[in-house]
Amino acid sequence: METRQYPHRRFNPLTGEWVLVSPHRLLRPWQGKVERLPEDQRPRYDPDCYLCPGNTRAGPVRNPAYQSTFVFDNDFPALLPEAATFPGESSALFRSEGEPGRCQVVCFSPRHDLSLPELSVSQIAAVIGAWTEQTRLLLEDPGIAHVQIFENKGELMGCSNPHPHSQIWATCHLPNEVQKELDHQRAYRERHGSSLLLGYLAQEQQRSERIVCANQHFTALVPYWAVWPFETLVLPHRAAGRLTDLNDKEIDALADLLKRLTTRYDNLFQCSFPYSMGFHQAPRTEDAGDFQLHMHFFPPLLRSPVVRKFMVGFEMLGMPQRDLTPEQAADRLRESSEVHYKEDRR
Ligand code: ZN
Repeated sequence: METRQYPHRRFNPLTGEWVLVSPHRLLRPWQGKVERLPEDQRPRYDPDCYLCPGNTRAGPVRNPAYQSTFVFDNDFPALLPEAATFPGESSALFRSEGEPGRCQVVCFSPRHDLSLPELSVSQIAAVIGAWTEQTRLLLEDPGIAHVQIFENKGELMGCSNPHPHSQIWATCHLPNEVQKELDHQRAYRERHGSSLLLGYLAQEQQRSERIVCANQHFTALVPYWAVWPFETLVLPHRAAGRLTDLNDKEIDALADLLKRLTTRYDNLFQCSFPYSMGFHQAPRTEDAGDFQLHMHFFPPLLRSPVVRKFMVGFEMLGMPQRDLTPEQAADRLRESSEVHYKEDRR
């Protein structure tokens, strides 16, 4: 066995956590064939979908006949503004606090059947525009410190409605992952005098083995410390803390990159590729100057539309582990076409 295939652990400088990589396990014979799922037959419009234009939601509220993106307050929010008055506890062992906040839904388009890779670049730019505008509006509220934008795509990820949409959860405290990334980016700046993620991107551009695709303003890569089989990180090429720091050209470039990356994902196993994805952007705290805007894609699929990775056993009790190396995952994603398999068939 060559030394590159020895089990080793890799450090995630954004969170300070480690992942165990066991590439030699892939030398086991591959037995499964790639299963195909029955073709997704979603209609353009579903009269029973509460996200489609003109339909009734809980309340009852009727959606407008929207033509582009559509943003509304979640009818069943996980966060409420009035939670500020939660009594809470503050002893060493019993500690709790109110978490006032807001939850919104952003529908990508009126079309019930078109996911991100099937939208045009200008339609995706409109979605990014809506995320940007909501980030700006939510941060105008002094009670909001952080805006989390994310998409849960696919039943496998527990998505409750197939109409393509994302969510925004705005909170008064920083979520755990954001706090960790903020702390590590600040500590890196103090120690090295430069940006962690810009420095990382520059080195990945030189090494090139983990880069999936790129354009003038953004790069998508499989991070060196990836946990999920086909996890990717999307990075801007210059310092930017939030979506609101991007100019129009950069928003168009991000739309282009997202279309290409998500098309590669769908083509990998010729299915609508499930994932949880989202932005990490600078919170509204005094020490957020070192925080660099980026996106994470965490897809669960391992080697077919039905074989997924689970975090069990050693991973629940110890640390995450992977067999496929990040370099092999990047190879697979680079081999995957940027012409969507459905379009190819038309
Ligand atoms: Zn992050």
